[in-house]
Amino acid sequence: MQRIVCKAGNVSIGGGAKPVVQSMCNTDTLDVAASVAQCKALAGAGCEMIRLTTQGLRQVKALDEIRRQLRSEGISNPLVADVHFNSEVAIAAAAGIADKVRINPGNFSKDHDVAMEKLRELLKVCKEYGTALRIGLNHGSLGERITSVWGDTPLGMCNAIMEWLKVCVDNDFFNLTLSLKASNTKVMVEAYELLYRAMQDELGMLFPLHLGVTEAGNGDSGRMKSAVGIGTLLKEGIGDTIRVSLTENPVNEIAVARMLLKCMEDGSMDAQSREEYIVKAGYRYGSGLLAGGPDDFELQGSIAGRPLTAQEAEDIKDILLQASRRRFTKAEYIACPSCGRTLYDIESVLAEVRKATERFAGVRIAVMGCIVNGPGEMADADYGYVGQGVGKVTLYKGKTPVEKDIPQQEAVSRLVALIEKDR
Ligand code: SF4
Repeated sequence: MQRIVCKAGNVSIGGGAKPVVQSMCNTDTLDVAASVAQCKALAGAGCEMIRLTTQGLRQVKALDEIRRQLRSEGISNPLVADVHFNSEVAIAAAAGIADKVRINPGNFSKDHDVAMEKLRELLKVCKEYGTALRIGLNHGSLGERITSVWGDTPLGMCNAIMEWLKVCVDNDFFNLTLSLKASNTKVMVEAYELLYRAMQDELGMLFPLHLGVTEAGNGDSGRMKSAVGIGTLLKEGIGDTIRVSLTENPVNEIAVARMLLKCMEDGSMDAQSREEYIVKAGYRYGSGLLAGGPDDFELQGSIAGRPLTAQEAEDIKDILLQASRRRFTKAEYIACPSCGRTLYDIESVLAEVRKATERFAGVRIAVMGCIVNGPGEMADADYGYVGQGVGKVTLYKGKTPVEKDIPQQEAVSRLVALIEKDR
């Protein structure tokens, strides 16, 4: 089996090497000083590759300046342009500015043939400048062409990305990674497993995979979801670069990612902190739980040199079972990590939403930073709180906007009223 290596700047991904740790800035890319400061903080924490929101040509220019300033200070981490809809922007970023560009080619045009053509144009530029590419499809972001045949399912995700991958291979472009993220750990694991097999069976080549549980939220549950989803795949030998996605300062993601990689070498349940214990528990038990294995085990081990208390064991097991989609004892939160497109302070809003809704056990509530990608990516949420504009929020029931453009100060209480009305 041929293992493809993707080279972005001075970092190689894949080919059986240790997974690369990466993250994404949540600053406004046009705020060069804030973005440079966050890139430096991420690099200092051990982040090997850094992604920045690049919605338009102004952001491409800002990215160029961010890169110039970082390089002048000796910070050589590869920079990844996160482009969603515009192939012209992706081409501009790929032309000697970003080391890698992240796209979903399906967003380039509603017409599949046009999207294919735009992807081919981008591949040409990437080849010319030695720029790497990530093709990333998230659960909930598939077009009707795919969902009408396979549904919004792991198989649909796998088949959709294989179509784009074959375009790359047919055009002799191999410098790429692939991702199929979902906030539901079961969907995420199945999608990557299917893709891994499809690459082996249909191409005889393994392209590097970028793993992540998207919209995982924050705190204990965000860490646990990432440990269960990413950990399950790493145990199977799948995954070449990882991003732990938290609705927090992205610097916090790096320690969690490193703890997760350490679990591959150290299987003990003795941890230095509650955070590390959660990561270890997700890594150790998540795969068995996702596969339908027994859930009647007791958590053991220690935190900071003292045995786990009965209360901690019960509490952490509840979080583990929920992250593994086995038992829902609390509301489930799907929250984006935020980025340069975010329209409000998502960390404090998520805390407010959690406090007001935690009692609704099993209800899935999305908190998303922007209207551009938020509604598509909140996948199977029952309710959504989505930033519509500055100080404005739209509330969703499933995929339908039900209260549009409401003032942010009223949004949490109106969300609670919406949920209560349905109970
Ligand atoms: S939903 Fe919008 S704000 Fe949130 S991470 Fe995605 S693009 Fe950024």
